[in-house]
Parts: sequence; C-alpha cells; structure tokens
Amino acid sequence: MKKEELNHLKDTLSSPQHILIIPHKNPDGDAMGSCLGLMRALEKRGHEAFVLAPNDYPEFLKWLPGTEKVMVYEQDRNRAAEEIKKASLVFTLDFNSLGRIGDLSQELENYEGDYVMIDHHQQPDDYARFTYSDPNMSSTCEMVYDFLEKMELSSEIDEQTATCLYTGIMTDTGSFRFPSTTSRTHRVIADLIDRGARNDQIHGAVFDSNSLDKLHLLGCALKNLVTLEEYHTAYISLSQEELDQHNFKKGDTEGFVNYGLSLTGIKFAVIFIENKQEGIIKISFRSKGDFSVNDFARSHFNGGGHINAAGGRSELNLEKTIEKFRDLLPRYKNELQP
Ligand code: 5GP
Ligand code: MN
Repeated sequence: MKKEELNHLKDTLSSPQHILIIPHKNPDGDAMGSCLGLMRALEKRGHEAFVLAPNDYPEFLKWLPGTEKVMVYEQDRNRAAEEIKKASLVFTLDFNSLGRIGDLSQELENYEGDYVMIDHHQQPDDYARFTYSDPNMSSTCEMVYDFLEKMELSSEIDEQTATCLYTGIMTDTGSFRFPSTTSRTHRVIADLIDRGARNDQIHGAVFDSNSLDKLHLLGCALKNLVTLEEYHTAYISLSQEELDQHNFKKGDTEGFVNYGLSLTGIKFAVIFIENKQEGIIKISFRSKGDFSVNDFARSHFNGGGHINAAGGRSELNLEKTIEKFRDLLPRYKNELQP
C-alpha cells in the first residue's frame, strides 16, 4: 500500500465507520482468525464492525472470541443485505478475487463504497481501493497484525484479538513449520503471547477436538491413499457415500491431504472430496519444494492459492476427475523429480 493510500485509510478510520469484514468461502483458521481479530480491534477503536462469512465454518473454530457476532450469508441473506446497505467500508481478508466468496459477490453489487484487501495469495485482482497483498507472508493474520501497526491501532490488540491472530498464524503455518514461517512470524507470535494468547489452549481447542467419526473418516481416507512413485505423487479420494457413512461435518477433512506429503519421497499430494450437493469435486493440493500447486490448480482445476498449498474444483465426477488428474502428470514429470 502506498503512503498516500495508507494515510487516506488512516484518515477514514479516524472517525467511526460501519465496517463489514468478509473471509473467503469455506473459511479456515486464518480466514476466521484474521476477520475476528480485526473486528475486535476496530470495535475497540469505536467502529461498528461485523464479520460476514459466505458460508458456515468448522466447529473447531467456533470458540474463537467474537464467534457469536458472525453472520453467515447462506443462512441469513436478509440480514446480510441490510448490513451491506449500511456498510461504509468492506474489508476482504484471506482471498484476492471476488470469485472466492460465491453468491455473496452478487449481493455486493449493491455496495458502492471502498474495499480493503488484506491477503497473502498470489496474483491479486484489482477490485480494492486499498490493496495490501504479500504472497511471502505466512498468513493473513500476520498481515492484520502489521496492518494494525500501520494504522496505529496496535494498542487495541488485547487478549481476544491476540487469540484470534495466533490461531490463524498457527493453522496457516502448519503449527509454525512451513517455509513461510519467518523469524518475524515468531516475533509476532511472541508479542501475541505477551498480549494474552494462550498457545497451549489454542492448540488444544483446534487440534484436540476430534470426534470418533472424524478419526474413522481419516482411517477411510488413509485406506484410499494411492501413490504414483514415478511422479512422487500421492492422492486420496473420498466419495459422498464414504463421507455420509462417517457423518461428515464441515472441517472433518482438514489436514488429511498432508498425510500424503508425509510419505518418504512424495513431493505432490492431493485430496479429492466429492460434494454431491454442489455437484463438484473439491480438491486440495500440497507440495514440497518448488513445484507450484498454485499454477497447477489455476491451469487445470479452476483454483489457485500458494506455491505449496492450493485448492480447486472439478465438475466431472470423482472417477473422471481422478482420471483427468492422472493424465496430466506425465507433463509434469520433470518438475516432480526430487
Ligand atoms: P485448501 O486446500 O486448504 O482448501 O486451500 C489451500 C489454499 O488454497 C488456501 O490458501 C485457500 O485459500 C486456497 N484455495 C482453496 N480453494 C481455492 C479455490 O477454489 N480457488 C482459489 N483461488 N484458491 C483456493
Ligand atoms: Mn491464509
């Protein structure tokens, strides 16, 4: 963000605004943590702020401070439309293209004010008046921390905001182990702990809240794991029937794709998850090293993300999607060598 833009935004935020904060569809820990952390800090500074999620988010995030104030567009379109009418500023967090919020983007056509984008994905679109985009950042939560500093709002980071931001940094960095984790990330984390974030409790709330159904579903996913050693690739598939058998709930498959990457010699791991209701296969891609799953997802599966973590979708059935995926691999054989 340029200096004039920064000053303009600071100026806007110096008087009370009615602010909407929007995460991407199927919000994860970084999306919800950044939205709720920012909401809290803005509220403390005297703004009216609301989080409007395009659709519901997983139970393992529903303890985050401020959760009770989250509106879910799919569940309450009328109220969302009212809030959009009142909004004087809209923040979009953890995504960079309005295509990532589903139908909510149509509702926003009635909104004529400014957008602020804070995001760490590659190739941002150009819809925001204020764009703070940095693909080198570990997480949107780390960027919100910086943003609050730039806006001279750091003093508003209390225990609740610190807890939200800690959560998103933790989930997006795979608990501080991905290459995007820098010494600066750890400095931010240290400050968040000083401000009241409880690392043990946050980790427990997110990772030790499994249901037996979820662990059985993980067992099923691991049984379905296939390796293609020639391409240093592993993939998992889960059909709607398998999900139903295990009483699937949103968030239950979070992290499953990483098991493929934990195999010796595997550089590229994928999970295909059937969603009969939406008529799509949701795909998650993960890689190690310089194989860009962002490029792969963008080129072939209508998606995107980061170099080592991306998502996409397919409108073919599960079998045909996997066939398409397997047929693409020979083109990438060289890139997939260790
Ligand atoms: P996940 O596989 O956990 O859903 O997502 C991995 C990363 O890719 C996240 O940063 C997420 O925001 C991004 N991502 C997931 N699905 C999509 C998609 O359909 N389109 C784009 N552009 N990014 C996605
Ligand atoms: Mn993120």
